[in-house]
Amino acid sequence: MTVDPEQSCAFCGARVIDHDPISVRSHPPATDEPAFYCNYACLSARIEKEGLHLGDACAWKPE
Ligand SMILES: [Zn+2]
Repeated sequence: MTVDPEQSCAFCGARVIDHDPISVRSHPPATDEPAFYCNYACLSARIEKEGLHLGDACAWKPE
């Protein structure tokens, strides 16, 4: 994966290149560019903050 040195974190706005960047892209993509995060901590924080995990499940059933 190549990361633009100027790419900023979708959660905290820091330059992801200074950390351990990961990118996330939905299918179908909501935008042309994937979202970048410093690391899993920022991705996790954004998911929790915006409730992105609500309503999503994969091979998980409560019963
Ligand atoms: Zn970040």
